[in-house]
Amino acid sequence: MTNTIKTFPLTGVAIGPGDPELISLKALKHLQQADVVYFVTSKIEDNLIQSFSKQIIDAYNLKVLCKPLLFPMLGKNRDQFYQNAYQTLKADVKIGLRVCMVSEGDLGFYSTFGYILKLAKADSLPVICIPGIPAFIAGAAQATTPIVDGNYSFINLALPESFNEIETELATNKAVVVMKMKVLSGWFNFLKNIKREFVYIEKTGTTDEFTTSNYMDLENRKIPYFALILFPKTESLTAS
Ligand code: SAH
Repeated sequence: MTNTIKTFPLTGVAIGPGDPELISLKALKHLQQADVVYFVTSKIEDNLIQSFSKQIIDAYNLKVLCKPLLFPMLGKNRDQFYQNAYQTLKADVKIGLRVCMVSEGDLGFYSTFGYILKLAKADSLPVICIPGIPAFIAGAAQATTPIVDGNYSFINLALPESFNEIETELATNKAVVVMKMKVLSGWFNFLKNIKREFVYIEKTGTTDEFTTSNYMDLENRKIPYFALILFPKTESLTAS
């Protein structure tokens, strides 16, 4: 006898970087029609779930079961956590549930869902991706700053190893975005000395958002994980 259960593709749904309104209509529709929505958490303590994504989807008042997938940010067993999460998602897909996994920002851009996608493809599990707005795009818009134009190039650095690495890219006349900037300390001195226009963007789209282009504001600021910095590169307008 053949298996007659109708199954639906595993659906990655990008939910934008913080402001619940920065989601596509298509993404919201998938969430509303899901049977179960999984979100990433790095910690579950005393039944308290810490999740940036969960805070965003709470705003949609979904009448859908929302469940955490645990991914500690650090540690040696990362691959095992990806495998475990993938098996959890697959098990629900196989029993005919409409399964969504949400992803903060965009889902193919430094995202946990990217790893799930690789596992699903290797396993020939049907999967679809609904794209979203990455944090640096939302942050630049919030700061009303064009990122790059003309024939300038753009580079994104994540987890930079040193300020030298950033300086080298800036010297080649590119627009530069640095994500996961928290790994370096000494931003105040770096920004004070390089004399290049920048926008620092923290927790964009949330009630705690903070943006500045003045290095003095960073003198005593503790840089959190959800922070990035943008060095725009744009053409000057010639006066007519
Ligand atoms: N998928 C996300 C990126 C996740 S990697 C996206 O598309 O934007 C996590 C890094 O993204 C953080 O270290 C930070 O540099 C940046 N980031 C994510 N959300 C942010 C937010 N709301 N405000 C500022 N930076 C954010």
